[in-house]
Amino acid sequence: MKARFIFALLAASLPLSAHDLVIANGRVMDPATNLDAVRHIAVTGGKISAISETPLTGDKVVNAAGLAVSPGFIDLHAHGQTTEDLQIKAQDGVTTALEMEGGVYPVAAWYASRKGKAPIHYGATVGHISARFAAFHPEMRVGQWGGGRSRLALLGPNPAGANKVAGPEEMQRMSTAIREGLDEGALGIGFGINYTPAATPEEIEALFRIAAERKVPAFVHTRAFGIAPIREAIDTAKKTGAALHIVHIGSSGISDVPQVLQLIDESRAAGMDLTTEVYPYTAASTMLESAMFNPGWQENLRISYGDIVWTATGERLTQESFERYRKQGGWVIMYMMKDANVEKAIAHPGVMIASDGVPFVDGKGHPRGAGTFARVLGHYSRDKKLLPLMDALAKMTILPAKRLEAHLPMMKHKGRIAIGADADITVFDAATIIDRATFEAPTTPSAGISHVIVGGTFVVRDGKLVKDALPGRAVRVTP
Ligand SMILES: [Zn+2]
Repeated sequence: MKARFIFALLAASLPLSAHDLVIANGRVMDPATNLDAVRHIAVTGGKISAISETPLTGDKVVNAAGLAVSPGFIDLHAHGQTTEDLQIKAQDGVTTALEMEGGVYPVAAWYASRKGKAPIHYGATVGHISARFAAFHPEMRVGQWGGGRSRLALLGPNPAGANKVAGPEEMQRMSTAIREGLDEGALGIGFGINYTPAATPEEIEALFRIAAERKVPAFVHTRAFGIAPIREAIDTAKKTGAALHIVHIGSSGISDVPQVLQLIDESRAAGMDLTTEVYPYTAASTMLESAMFNPGWQENLRISYGDIVWTATGERLTQESFERYRKQGGWVIMYMMKDANVEKAIAHPGVMIASDGVPFVDGKGHPRGAGTFARVLGHYSRDKKLLPLMDALAKMTILPAKRLEAHLPMMKHKGRIAIGADADITVFDAATIIDRATFEAPTTPSAGISHVIVGGTFVVRDGKLVKDALPGRAVRVTP
């Protein structure tokens, strides 16, 4: 009797809960294992510490009954990297946002500038565009391409960084910059060849060789739109042995999307390390002063003045306003894709979802930075029944994680619900999740997302942004 009393006292003095946080009763959906069942998930020290069919105890318990519990979404194409841009992204279920196409330069300085300011995990490639501009305009500190207000506009029309063929000296400076960026932990090499039309196939090939040698992928916006430049990038990757990721296949493939998807499938079947992604909108967005609008743009983009909208005012352009605004510099939206092609890419096996979200300037911009992931889950998967929910989730969790994990082992702990995985978790209502961002109100957060947890910390709780939560960490290659 006495012994039993002492035992009871001892038990009462032990901590009651083994875990920091429990997400109870949710429909756990893990595309890595195809688990789709009610489970209780525990989080301790920023990691997933238990997955259980029976209830768990924790210091905090969130009841997720009726809600889907998924690995947090990984966006491989996120230009907008300010705290505010990433907060909007968090409200779309994203827990990792990487700037892979444009990339950054210098790399270490960029990572240092983001430290402690990010609600979700962040990272970048070393950018060919920025490295090239640094090679031609050493007086200019070119930072993140596309970041905030354009620095391209400051260079005036026809900047050498975009429009001059590189001589041996510039080539040397560029290669050194790219190697230096990789030494500083960049996640690959980012290319926007359409923005640097003077970059010859030989230049691109030389830089793909660095990617191959360093075993990092090249993330490429091709030289122009349609299948021919995509084939050029694939051939260069084959020749050099570089792994290749072609960005935004919807806009890059334009009306050739079906043939492009076939080409990618065939190349993959032949053993090539080749992937692609799509954003779920029929309009693109970029900077009007960029080389993309050099003479010949109508043939390249397959559009005309009236298909372009000046983001700041919402007006459609004419030849006169096109020329005026191009001198001034600023963001535009281009209506250039067919929904049928975008749908084909979204539904196609292996094609990832990535936003290409550009920075919001005074609340203006393209809605893809705010609504991409909820739009695929709500509009395309649930409402249009384009693809099953689990397949849609795979395209935003395990597939992007796997794209990176060969050269970035930390990604083996992301994109899945598994014991020991990072506690990056998105809890949403599959019946109501939907994008609400529009071209008129592009920063409107998505609906139906209940909780977004980043490394065990709530960034969105009960559908509301936790404003001072900045648990995002650097995603970076450790030398
Ligand atoms: Zn692009």
